[in-house]
Parts: sequence; structure tokens; C-alpha cells
Amino acid sequence: MQKTSNIQPTKQCCVCDKKLFGRSDKVFCDIHCKNKYHQSVRKQTKTAAANTVKILKKNYVILCELLGDNCNRFKIKKMKLQEKGFNFEVISGMNQNKFGIKMEIFEFSWYFAASNNIIVLQEREQSKISPYMYKRWKMQLEDSQTDRLSV
Ligand SMILES: [Zn+2]
Repeated sequence: MQKTSNIQPTKQCCVCDKKLFGRSDKVFCDIHCKNKYHQSVRKQTKTAAANTVKILKKNYVILCELLGDNCNRFKIKKMKLQEKGFNFEVISGMNQNKFGIKMEIFEFSWYFAASNNIIVLQEREQSKISPYMYKRWKMQLEDSQTDRLSV
């Protein structure tokens, strides 16, 4: 007879599936599985965050290029923006007023308008992004496009 026979192991280690004995809030069978779990979560969180930032940078560079030098507002067809590789799902913020919802990408904001148009505004004269950082993002974007073409 096992000493633990009166305790029914109902839970399993979420890493190796071994049955768990002892404290009811136990999640891992040992320290190795615990470390393995946290390592994996850290790695995936880092990758997910990096991908989101990458898309955000790309969106920002696209809007900067379309804006030009002497204005702070433009209108563009949704399709056109899509063709440039703009990702509508990734934003840095959101703003709602009585006219509707505006999506934000750093100092830019955009919203859907009639006839499949997107209105883009540069909210502040002072950019939130350093011009050096912008140049670097632009270079990274150009590099990634060259890589894709050469494959
Ligand atoms: Zn385990």
C-alpha cells in the first residue's frame, strides 16, 4: 500500500503530464519542469512582442512616407494602404470622441471614412519618434523587402 493512497492525484504537471501529489495548488512536478515552463513562456512573449513592434514600425514608416513634407493630413483608399503593406490590426492606441473611433500609431491617427477611404492625420507637430530611429526603421523595412525579393 502506498503512503499517499488516500490522496487522489487529479492534476497533472502542465509540462510533462506526470501526476501531481501534495499541495492542491501545485502546478509543476519539480523545479526542472517549472524552469522549462517559464523559459518557454518568456521566449514566446518576447517573440510576440517583437513581431508587434515590427508591424508598428512598418505602419509608421508607411504613414510618414505618404504624408510628405508640407501637410499633416491625407486621404487614401483602404486598398492602396493595404497594398503598401499597412496592417490595420496593429496600433499603438485608440481614441474615441463623438465622431467615432480614431486609431493611433504614435503621433499619427487614422479612421475609416466613406467610400473605403482612410483619413490619416498627424496629430502633433512634434514627432514622438526620434528622426534617427525613424531612419533606422526605414532601413530595416527596406532590408526586409530586399530579402523577400531575393528569395
Ligand atoms: Zn513535470
